[in-house]
Amino acid sequence: MNAKPIIENRIWQPEFECLPRPRLLALQAERLRGAVARASKNPFYKERFERLGVTPEKIRSADDVRRLPFTTKADLRDHYPLGFLVVPRSEVARYQGTSGTTGKPTWTAYTKNDVDNWCNLCARFLVSGGLRPEHTVQISFGFGLFTGGFGLHYGIERVGAAIIPLSSGNSARQLMCMQDLRPEVLICTPSYALKLMDDILNGGIDRSSIAIEHAHFGGEPWTEDMRTRIESGLKIRCWNNYGLAEVQGCGVSGECAYRNGMHVQEDQFIIETIDPDTLEPLPDGEKGELVITPLCREAFPVIRYRTRDIGYLYNDGFCPCGRTTRRMSRILGRTDDMLIIRGVNVFPSQIEAALMPFESVAPHYMIEVSRPAALDEVTVHIEMQPGMFSDSMKEMQAIRDKIAASIQSVTGLHMNIDLVSPNSLERFEGKSRRVTDHRKLVD
Ligand code: ADP
Ligand code: ZN
Repeated sequence: MNAKPIIENRIWQPEFECLPRPRLLALQAERLRGAVARASKNPFYKERFERLGVTPEKIRSADDVRRLPFTTKADLRDHYPLGFLVVPRSEVARYQGTSGTTGKPTWTAYTKNDVDNWCNLCARFLVSGGLRPEHTVQISFGFGLFTGGFGLHYGIERVGAAIIPLSSGNSARQLMCMQDLRPEVLICTPSYALKLMDDILNGGIDRSSIAIEHAHFGGEPWTEDMRTRIESGLKIRCWNNYGLAEVQGCGVSGECAYRNGMHVQEDQFIIETIDPDTLEPLPDGEKGELVITPLCREAFPVIRYRTRDIGYLYNDGFCPCGRTTRRMSRILGRTDDMLIIRGVNVFPSQIEAALMPFESVAPHYMIEVSRPAALDEVTVHIEMQPGMFSDSMKEMQAIRDKIAASIQSVTGLHMNIDLVSPNSLERFEGKSRRVTDHRKLVD
């Protein structure tokens, strides 16, 4: 565990974030009773609670969450658009949705209190990752249904910093803004940060013309190696934060100054890890599907939401920052982005981790899966760094072999390596889509 803070350790709401553990658990139990009472107004839960014999009064401890039914994305879809709304429309202050690019969004709704709570939850991770009232923040997240844009906007406002609501896209404009208004803090997806970094480093932009010191990334999986690359490339500090629209949006968890995993805002969420096949709870430290119950939401309560995100909770005691909340790992994949290659489970993040140590390749890659005959084949297209292409076939083959060996050591699978020229792969302004699975097209 990191024993030293990376920056000054600041805490936005110590009255909640540092509650002695017994009081935190008592608060969770009390709030869970409220969450069950509110959810009972939804016929979906009412019927399930009745079947399981659950009433708010029967909830004695936070652990009683295990007696409650799970909720899946399919349940929300089956009650499209607003079947989970339990307050009159007149009490809704905001609607947001998932950023899903295909089909209908999954809607969610907030009362005024929900929005107010959400602001504080975003303020918590922003402040612990270096945001100060005197800062200016460039938000390069899309403003729209995606919770990242407006969620962070109001979180930053709560802290008292200045906001540039630039939204995503148009990198030339992003860089112009960085140079002209000199924000100290950047907010975007990690893949968009990679693109901006490329444009800065390869575009002859003088680093001293840019004042960014901190960046807050969320919305998609990324690796520790990617952090190292961005931090050393741009000379900034990058912080990880996590959330999903179904349970609120960004602000469910985020890193502190010690950067020992992401503190889960446990006064407002009960987090569990389960085995996605047996649905049995797993002990802290074991990898599984994260299940989240928001405790305070008024408009759109959900119970034990199955996130399909894979991660684990740390079991190494309390973080030295003073918070008493448990910490979660990075997201290691989704139960549904998991690739099964020749019977082996592979997460795109594993492939990324295997190729990041190679200095000669850029952090841009695409994974292509096909089944030309009976066997699955994977080709990883990776961009070379400018100036690293060699005319020697032998040298290029040596790089390919080394990368293939690295991927094989992590995944156990041989994959084809295709080295492509700089800037030839697609760039992403929002969440990246790095996997093309041709097998699905013929199923
Ligand atoms: P969706 O993308 O499912 O339409 P959201 O826009 O609410 O819905 O995105 C939430 C999802 O994004 C999470 O379930 C998770 O898979 C991913 N995500 C969000 N933040 C992070 C993060 N810091 N690291 C990894 N994955 C993240
Ligand atoms: Zn901490």
